[in-house]
Amino acid sequence: MAKKQFKAESKRLLDLLINSVYTQREIFLRELISNASDAIDKMYYKALTDESLNFNKGNYFIKVTIDKPNRILKVSDTGIGMTKDELDDNLGVIAKSGSMLFKNENELKDGHEIIGQFGVGFYSAFMVADTVTVISKAFGSNEAFIWESKGVEGYTIKPCERDSFGTDVILNIKESTENENFDEFLEEYRIRSIIKKYSDFISYPIKMDITESRFKEGSEKEYEQYTVEKILNSMVPIWRKNKNELKQDDYDNFYAEKHYGFDKPLKHIHISVEGAVSYNAILFIPEKIPFDFYTKEYEKGLELYSSGVMIMHKCAELLPDYFSFVKGMVDSEDLSLNISRELLQHDRQLNMIAKNIKTKIKNELDTLLINEREKYEEFYKSFGRQLKYGLYGEYGRNKEELQDLLLFYSSTEKKMVTFAEYVSRMPEEQKYIYYATGESNERIEKLPQTELVADKGYEILYFTDDVDEFAIKMLNTYKEKEFKSVASGDLGIETEEKDSSDSEDEKQQALFSRMKEILTDKVSAVRASKRLKNHPVCLSSEGELSIEMEKILKTMPSNLDVRANKVLEINTNHEVFSSLKEAYKNDQEKLKLYTDLLYNQALLIEGLPINDPVDFTNNICKIMK
Ligand code: ADP
Ligand code: MG
Repeated sequence: MAKKQFKAESKRLLDLLINSVYTQREIFLRELISNASDAIDKMYYKALTDESLNFNKGNYFIKVTIDKPNRILKVSDTGIGMTKDELDDNLGVIAKSGSMLFKNENELKDGHEIIGQFGVGFYSAFMVADTVTVISKAFGSNEAFIWESKGVEGYTIKPCERDSFGTDVILNIKESTENENFDEFLEEYRIRSIIKKYSDFISYPIKMDITESRFKEGSEKEYEQYTVEKILNSMVPIWRKNKNELKQDDYDNFYAEKHYGFDKPLKHIHISVEGAVSYNAILFIPEKIPFDFYTKEYEKGLELYSSGVMIMHKCAELLPDYFSFVKGMVDSEDLSLNISRELLQHDRQLNMIAKNIKTKIKNELDTLLINEREKYEEFYKSFGRQLKYGLYGEYGRNKEELQDLLLFYSSTEKKMVTFAEYVSRMPEEQKYIYYATGESNERIEKLPQTELVADKGYEILYFTDDVDEFAIKMLNTYKEKEFKSVASGDLGIETEEKDSSDSEDEKQQALFSRMKEILTDKVSAVRASKRLKNHPVCLSSEGELSIEMEKILKTMPSNLDVRANKVLEINTNHEVFSSLKEAYKNDQEKLKLYTDLLYNQALLIEGLPINDPVDFTNNICKIMK
């Protein structure tokens, strides 16, 4: 029979695994046992939903066998098995979860990272075995097949015999070398401890023949060895265990076993609820952003179990979008096994669980924010944007849940602060919560528009994310304090110069009107500035749409032609202003030149493109001459 080729991606993964010097090779066993357990789950599920079958739990188990002289380690199960086509399809390609890794070559270079970070599934067997053989008979079929591979060269599938349905995965353990020890995977005690460590909560028995010694019959001195089959795992799923019995490691291992993420979780939430609806759940807040998190491919959801049987891999209904980063599982006895995707949304039980979970996550984040600020900021760096999208989406309906979870950089504190912290520091006469928008904290710091507010000693929040200002518009107020951009028309700050700049405005009305004529409809007005201290000009906006929002909307695919009402503000105390006045009186050409330069300067400071860079630089040269 001809050898079949692995798919390209699988080949690369195999190559990586075979040659890896990854220190935690032991996880291969976790992967094989988890597959065996999944296969039994499928059988169980079939029986539960098909009345003609009955599932006698006693008949379902996983058996691990060691044959030390022949260097064989075998994992057998009484699960649903695989047909010939399934062997071909399922073992010939790497599982989907892993395939996304291979998007770029650089990631490949860091081989162990990949193995450690992602579950590599069935193929992890090649870390410890030079030949992997799978014998399988699918439920309901009377043919069995044998799949065999020595690694990258490919695999064969041939007919064979097997008594009943189920699967054996047979590993030929590699020979140890000077530097690497593989013999450990043929030692009973080692295999036992690996199973205890990673697979204790598997809900089916994992059996193994254990060698023990006893006195020979009729003797009190002579020992003999005998074997006895033992169950190695406690079979209580981790989510049913008492929290007090569990250690951080247990949760971390569960997270890894389930392939929830490639990092260590930042926080876990273990929930046991009894009442109108009863359920157990283990939820995780990851530390790092999954690589596809902010893409369309990312699917939110929790694993859903009904009385210990998994019925859905990603139940999206259990999580609001703004908590889509949460990973984990929910097990409830109150859910029907046959629940379909369509019915889910209307399931009262499920909705109650979802609501409850939402509150628990929110509370956990609140606590984290209060008690472990550094950890929270770590979390916020990864997922803060998602919270802000959450605020913006659904017409601000999630305001109550989310507003106190937000952090922004503060101009006076020089660190991330909450709105509550900001408001608690507001002097009595301060009317608004001020913010400034820009690309980075460094750039915002230099914005001329911040001058007056900063001069007053008021705190300014820096908005550097695209979504920030949109999200805040949804919020509108926090504790009855309105948000105000430092670039908006009226800053609500009484200044001594207020009157003088108002009268300055009147006095210079003719000059400003002329400048406005020169700039045509590029600006809606030219005015004497109340906010500028040291800078000669800046732009501000009037109305709902800010300049920053205009910038962002312009980058959107819809390509909306929306424009903020821009006001060119002139600092009448600046030296430059005397030159303007001078030019207005004596030299209209010069006034045009100056107006143009000032307008373009304001654009540049704002991070907006200038219309004609060549013209602009020529103009600078003109005044230098
Ligand atoms: P995953 O478990 O994430 O799907 P794996 O690489 O671990 O990925 O396994 C690939 C597929 O091979 C499984 O999805 C399953 O269909 C099949 N498979 C592996 N082991 C078994 C088994 N013991 N019994 C039945 N099917 C199996
Ligand atoms: Mg698997």
